[in-house]
Amino acid sequence: MVPDAASLTSSPAQATPLPPFPQLPPLPSLPRRLSAEPPGWVREVDVVVVGSGIAGLTAALECRHLGTIMVVTKDEVAAGSTHWAQGGIAWVQAEGDTVEQHIDDTLVAGAGLCIEEAVRVLVTEGPDEVAKLINRGAEFDRDLAGELELTREGGHKRHRIAHAGGDATGAEIERALISAVTADRGIEIVEHALVLDLIPAEVDPDEAPAVAGVTLHVLGEGTRGGVGAVHARAVVLATGGIGQIYAVTTNPPVSTGDGVAAALRAGARLRDIEFIQFHPTVLYLGPGARGQLPLVSEAVRGEGGQLINSRGERFMVGKHELAELAPRDVVAKQIMKEMAAAGVDHVYVDGRMLGEETWRVRFPTIWHSCRQVGINPATDLIPVAPACHYFCGGVETNIDGATSLSGLYACGEVASSGVHGANRLASNSLLEGLVFARRIAERLQDVPPPRRPPAQDPRKPGLIDRSVVPALQQAMSRYAGGLRDAAGLDRCAAELAKLAQQTAAEPGLESWEATNMMAVGAAILASARLREESRGAHWRDDFEGRREAWRGHLLVAQDDQQGLRHHFVPAPPMSVDRRPDR
Ligand SMILES: Cc1cc2nc3c(=O)[nH]c(=O)nc-3n(C[C@H](O)[C@H](O)[C@H](O)COP(=O)(O)OP(=O)(O)OC[C@H]3O[C@@H](n4cnc5c(N)ncnc54)[C@H](O)[C@@H]3O)c2cc1C
Repeated sequence: MVPDAASLTSSPAQATPLPPFPQLPPLPSLPRRLSAEPPGWVREVDVVVVGSGIAGLTAALECRHLGTIMVVTKDEVAAGSTHWAQGGIAWVQAEGDTVEQHIDDTLVAGAGLCIEEAVRVLVTEGPDEVAKLINRGAEFDRDLAGELELTREGGHKRHRIAHAGGDATGAEIERALISAVTADRGIEIVEHALVLDLIPAEVDPDEAPAVAGVTLHVLGEGTRGGVGAVHARAVVLATGGIGQIYAVTTNPPVSTGDGVAAALRAGARLRDIEFIQFHPTVLYLGPGARGQLPLVSEAVRGEGGQLINSRGERFMVGKHELAELAPRDVVAKQIMKEMAAAGVDHVYVDGRMLGEETWRVRFPTIWHSCRQVGINPATDLIPVAPACHYFCGGVETNIDGATSLSGLYACGEVASSGVHGANRLASNSLLEGLVFARRIAERLQDVPPPRRPPAQDPRKPGLIDRSVVPALQQAMSRYAGGLRDAAGLDRCAAELAKLAQQTAAEPGLESWEATNMMAVGAAILASARLREESRGAHWRDDFEGRREAWRGHLLVAQDDQQGLRHHFVPAPPMSVDRRPDR
C-alpha cells in the first residue's frame, strides 16, 4: 500500500512565516498529454522501468524476482548521463572517514534543504550497494597493493571517491550493468522506445490517483513498432536529468526532462525543481557553442588543479575554507562573478602541475577532449565556464522511491528523494541511483495488483513545434540559469508563452521532446520566480542570501483547472551540530 501522499511531506509548523507567494506572470499553456496515434499494440508486464542509466538498470536487476520486467529506453541503452560520469562515486570506506562525516558534508552542500533521513539512508546503505555493483562486474581503479584509489571533490572533507578508467567511471559502471542485465534472460530491454505519457488508472472516487502503465513510441515496424501501451503493476521512472533545456550543458541529448514532464502531466508532485546545479568547470568552446559540452571534472582540482581568473589570480583562495574544492554552487557563483567583473566569458583551470603522464593516465577523457580542440592540459591553461549539469529536485518520492501517485516510483536524477537538498554533493548521484533503485524493489516485494487502464484517456492532447527549442534553450540560459532575478524570470515566462503558441501538427520525436522541454522549463521558472531567496544552486540577484522563512520545499503539481499549483512545506528544524552554515 502506497502511503498517503500528504505524509511524504508533512513537517512541523514553521517558526518564521513565509511572505505570500508573489504573483506569477502568465505561463505557457501546456497540454495534459502528448498528441500521438492511439496505441496500436499492448503489452502486459509486472514492472516497466523507463530509462537505462544506473538507476533504471539497477532497478531492473533488483526487481528481477518480481515477475516480468521490461526496460524501455528512448535511444541506445547507454545513451544517458551515467555513461558520461567522470569523477567517481562516493562512499565511506577509508580509514578516518565516517558515516557522520559523509552525512555532514552532504547536508552542508544541500544548504539546509536535504531530508536528513534520506541522506542517512544514502550514506549507510551506499557501501553495500557499491559492493553489489562490484560483484556485478564494475572495476574501479586500484593501486599496486590492490586498494581502491580514492580522490576528493568539492564539498568532501575526506578522500572517499572511487573512480574507474581514470575519469571514465560512468562508462565502466554502465558497461557492467548492461552486461548484467543482458545476461539475465528474465529482463527484456527495448531500445529506441520513447515513453510519451503515464497512463492514469481508472480509480474509484475514494481511491488515490494511480498509474497503470505507459504509452510509448518504438522505432520500427510490425507488432512492436509505432505507438503502443505497456500495462504494468508498477512503473519505475528513471529518465535522468533535464540539461538539454539549457543552451549549454554537460548532459547528453536524451536529457530532455521527459520523465519529469510526463509525471507532471499525470498529476504527480515535483519538489525543489528550482535547484539546478551548474557545473563550474565545463570546457569553454567559444561563444557559439551549444548542446552537450565536455566536463573538466572536479577531480582535477581534487588532484591539485587550481582556478585562475583572466588576471592570472587564484581567485578561490580566501573565498571559502576549501578554496577550489568548495561546494559547486560556491565555486560556480564565484566564477560567474569573476567573469562578470572582468567582462569575459570564461576563467581557467590550471592543471599544468599534474604533468602529462598523470593527465593521460588519471584523466584520459578530459585529456582527449582538450587535445581535440588543440589544448594541451600539461602545458596550457584550460578555459572553462559553468554549464547546466544536474537537476537537484525532481519527482517527489519518499525514501522508498514512492511518488505521490500510486503505482509510480522514481529513482536516480529524475527523482527528488531528498538527498541533495538545494545543491548536490559531488559524486553522490551515482550512489543515489544504486540505493534508491534497490529500495524500490524491496518496496515492491508484493507487487501491487494490476490497475485498470482507462478505455480512453480523457486528457486534452497537444504538441509544441520542435522549431522553438533553440529559442527556449536560449531564454532558459539567459534568464533562468545560474543567476536569476524577477524581471528576467518574467521575461523568460513571456518568451516561453509566446513560443508555446507554435503548435505542431505532426507528432514525432522532436515535437514530443520540445513539448516536454517546454513543460519542464515553465515549471522550473515558476518555482524559481516564487523562491525569493538565494540558497544552494538557486541564486536570485534581487534576493541575496538565505531566508529562514524559505527553508523548506516548494512543491508543484499541474491540474486542469488552475495549471501549475504550488505548495510550500517548511523543513523541520536542524540540530545545531548539523546546521549547514558556511
Ligand atoms: C558529464 C557528467 C559527469 C558526471 N559525473 C558524475 C560523477 O562523477 N559522479 C556522480 O555521482 N554523478 C555524476 N554525474 C551525474 C550522474 O551521472 C547522473 O546523475 C546519473 O548518471 C543519472 O543516472 P540516471 O540513471 O538517473 O539517468 P541517466 O543515466 O541519464 O539515464 C536516463 C535514461 O532514461 C532514458 N530516457 C529519457 N527519457 C526517456 C523517455 N521518454 N523514454 C524512455 N527512456 C527515456 C535515457 O535514454 C537514459 O537511458 C555526471 C553527469 C554528467 C552529465
